[in-house]
Amino acid sequence: MLAEIIVDVPTMQTDQPFTYFVPDKLAEVIEVGMRVEVPFGNSDRHIQGFVTGLLDTEAETTLKPIIRTLDLAPVLNQELLQLADYMKETTFAFKITCFQTMLPSVMKAEYQKNFVLIDRNHPIHTYFSESESLAWQEVESLGLLNQFKKLRAENVVELQYVVKNKNKVKTIRYVKSLINPDRLSSVIETIKKTAKRQKQLVELLVEHPTQPISFYKEQGLTTSILNQGVDNGWLVFEEVEAYRDPYKHRTFEQTHSLALNNEQQQAVETILSSATQEKSDVFLLEGITGSGKTEVYLQTIASLLAQGKTAMMLVPEIALTPQMVERFKSRFGEAVAVLHSGLSYGEKYDEWRKIERKEAQVVVGARSAIFAPLENIGVIIIDEEHEASYKQEEAPRYHARDLAIWRGKYHHCPVILGSATPSLESRARAQKKVYHLLHLSQRANPNATLPSVQVVDLKDEFVQKNTSTFSRILQEKITDRLAKKEQIVLLLNRRGYSSFVMCRDCGYVLPCPNCDISLTLHMDTKTMRCHYCGHEEAIPHRCPDCGGNKIRYYGTGTQKVEEELQALFPEARIVRMDVDTTRRKGAHEKILQTFGEQKADILLGTQMIAKGLDFPNITLVGVLNADTALNLPDFRSSERTFQLLTQVSGRAGRAEKAGEVIIQTFNPDHHAIVLAQAQDYEQFYQKEMQMRHQSGYPPYYFTVKISCSHPEEQVVAKKMFQIAQQVRQTLSPQSILLGPIPSGVARVKNRYHYQLIIKYKREPLLQGLLREILEESQKDQRKNLYVSIDNEPLNFI
Ligand code: ADP
Ligand code: ZN
Repeated sequence: MLAEIIVDVPTMQTDQPFTYFVPDKLAEVIEVGMRVEVPFGNSDRHIQGFVTGLLDTEAETTLKPIIRTLDLAPVLNQELLQLADYMKETTFAFKITCFQTMLPSVMKAEYQKNFVLIDRNHPIHTYFSESESLAWQEVESLGLLNQFKKLRAENVVELQYVVKNKNKVKTIRYVKSLINPDRLSSVIETIKKTAKRQKQLVELLVEHPTQPISFYKEQGLTTSILNQGVDNGWLVFEEVEAYRDPYKHRTFEQTHSLALNNEQQQAVETILSSATQEKSDVFLLEGITGSGKTEVYLQTIASLLAQGKTAMMLVPEIALTPQMVERFKSRFGEAVAVLHSGLSYGEKYDEWRKIERKEAQVVVGARSAIFAPLENIGVIIIDEEHEASYKQEEAPRYHARDLAIWRGKYHHCPVILGSATPSLESRARAQKKVYHLLHLSQRANPNATLPSVQVVDLKDEFVQKNTSTFSRILQEKITDRLAKKEQIVLLLNRRGYSSFVMCRDCGYVLPCPNCDISLTLHMDTKTMRCHYCGHEEAIPHRCPDCGGNKIRYYGTGTQKVEEELQALFPEARIVRMDVDTTRRKGAHEKILQTFGEQKADILLGTQMIAKGLDFPNITLVGVLNADTALNLPDFRSSERTFQLLTQVSGRAGRAEKAGEVIIQTFNPDHHAIVLAQAQDYEQFYQKEMQMRHQSGYPPYYFTVKISCSHPEEQVVAKKMFQIAQQVRQTLSPQSILLGPIPSGVARVKNRYHYQLIIKYKREPLLQGLLREILEESQKDQRKNLYVSIDNEPLNFI
C-alpha cells in the first residue's frame, strides 16, 4: 500500500503530496486524515505529515516508509480535507498551513532531537536505556554534548529528529472498591484494632465504591494507606479519561424559550423552512441592537437539535463574554462546547474532542471555531458579521464568513449572518438577492426603546475654555446618573491613536490632494503621508484651513482618562477595561461581573466594551472621542466609526429604564456621526454606497493586496515595482493599481514593507498571475525577500 502525504514543510516546492510506502504493520490502521511521522530529505530527519490519499498498489521498494501514525482515528474528515483545498485556492496559503490552522494547536508538530546508539560495543552504551535513544536535552544536562558530537562524527551514535505528539489526554485516577458490602464485617475482623485508618478506608469503600482519588485524600487517607488497600485486595486504581472543563465551577440555570414577537417569529420560520428544504440559503439578519437576534439564534438551534442536527455559532472574540456563553449554556447545557482564545491549549483540545466524539452538538466560538469537526450541521450563525476579527491577518488569510458559506453548501444548511450594522459587502449582496434579508426593527423587550443620542461638538467646548476630556453636558449627565444609582459606560476610542494631526480650533485634518482620505503622521520621518497614493508633505505648523497654530497630535490613554474622571467624580466607583487591565486570564470576566453586580458605577473602556453587554441598569453611554477612527486613512473608516457608535449606543436602555447617549466629536457634520445619531443604518448604507461607487471601492470592486518585505528598503521597493509592472502587463485597463507604496508602518522589526493593491471587476487571468508571482518569489526567499498575498484585505494600510 502507498500513501499520499502532505508534509510539514511550508514551502512552494513541497506544497504537494509526497508518496510513501505503508509498512504492513500500519496497513490495517492507517486512514486518510490521520497524522503520521515520516522521514523527509536527509534520512535522519523525521517530520509530521497528513495522509491525504491511500493507494492499494504494490509497493515500490525505492519509496521511504511511514514511521508511525500519530492518531488512532483521522483528525481531519473528508469535509475538512475538501475545505482545505478551497482555502488553499482562495487564500494562496500552503496546504500544510491550512491543515494546521484547522486543528487545535496541540496537534501541531513539535520536533525532538535524539541521539541513537549505533555501536553497541562502545563504552558509551551504559548511558542508553532499552529504547536506545537519548534526548538532546538529556545529553546536554549530563554535560556530554561535546563528547556526543565527536561520537557522531565517529559513527558511534547518530542524531535523529522525531515528532513529538503533544495532544495528551488528561486522566484522573479513580479508586474502585473490590469489597462485597455483604462481607464488610468479615473484612473488618481481619484488621488490627490499632489500624484505625484501614478500618476507615474499608468503610468508605463500601459506602462510596467508585470515587476519584482526591475524595479519599480529603478524608485524610494517604497514598500509602490506599496502596495497602491494593495489597490487601480491597481496591484497584483506575485511570479515567477526563476533560479539562473551563466552566466546571459554574452552574447554569436552565432558561426556556421566550415568546417571540412577530418579526422574530417570521425570521425563525423563514430560516427553519429553508433548513427543511436543505437549501443552503444565506440570511442576513439585520436587527437593531437589543432586537433579540440571540433569541432567534437560540430558537432556530433548538428546533434543529430536536431534529438530530448540530449547530455552530461564531461571535467576535471580544463579544464572547461570559454573558453570551451563559445564554447558550443555560439553554443547551452539556451540549455546548465553547472555543475561544482564553482557554489553555489543553482545554481547547478537550472541547475539540467533545465535538469530535459527538458529545457536543452546539459549538460557540471565535473565528477558528469555524473548523469545528461537527457533522450533520443544521445551521451556521455568524453574529456581528461585520467584525474585522473574522478575517485572519496571517496565513492562511481566510474570512470565516466565506468558510461558513462553503460549509453551509456542503451540509445543505442555512447560514445566518447577524448584525445591527452589516458590512457593506453583505448588505449589498442582500440587495442583489444573493443573500436573503430579514429585518428586526424593534427592541425585543416590549418596555425598551432605542436610546436618544446627542452629539456634542468639541470645538465649542474648546471655545468655552473647557479643555477636559468630558464635555459639560456629559459631566452633568454623569452626575445625574450617579445620584440615581444608574450605570454608565464610557468609550475611549483607541483606534488610530495619535496617528494623525488635527487643528484644535477648527477640527481640520490634513487630507491627501489626490485621494478622499486623510494623511497619516509618520514620526520616524516627521512627515504626513498618504497610504493610498504615496503623496507626502511636511507636518504643518499652522492650520491650512483657519490659520490657527493649535496643531495637535491626537490621542489620549485610558489610564489618564480614568484619573481625570476620578478627580471629577471622587465618589464614583470606576472600573477600567483595556488591554492593560485584561491581560490576565479571566480578568475580562471579573470586570464585567463586578459591573454586572453593580459594584461599580462607571465602566470605562476601549472598543472591547462596545459589544454583547446586556445590562438593564445602563442608562448612559458616553463616547469620549468619536473621531479617531474617522481619520484613519482607510476607505472603511466611516463604516467602522458608524458601526462602533451604533454598537456602543446599543448598550443603553435595553430594559425598562430609558437610555441616553452622548457622542463627543470634532466632526458633528460627518455622515457617519449624523447617521449614528439618527441610528439609521439603512440611510448610512445608501450614502456610503454612493461614496464607494464614486471613489471605486468595495463592494463595487474586488481587491487584492500584494505585500513584500526585506531589511533594505531599496530591495523591497525594486521588487514591488517589478511586480507592479508584471501586473500592469497582464491585467485589463479597467483594473486599478494603488501603489506600490510603503505600508502603513513602513518598517516593522527592521524590515521594510511595501504594498500594492489591485482593484478589479473581472480579471480571469488574475488567479494565475498571483500564483506565478508567488512561485517566482520562492527563489527570493533565500535573499530574505518575502512576498505575500491577501485576498480581499480588510486593512488597506
Ligand atoms: P441583540 O442580540 O439583537 O442585541 P438580544 O438577543 O441581546 O438582542 O436581546 C435583548 C434583550 O431582549 C435580552 O435581554 C433578551 O433576553 C430580550 N428578549 C429577546 N427576545 C425577547 C422576547 N421575544 N420577549 C422579551 N424579551 C426578549
Ligand atoms: Zn493619496
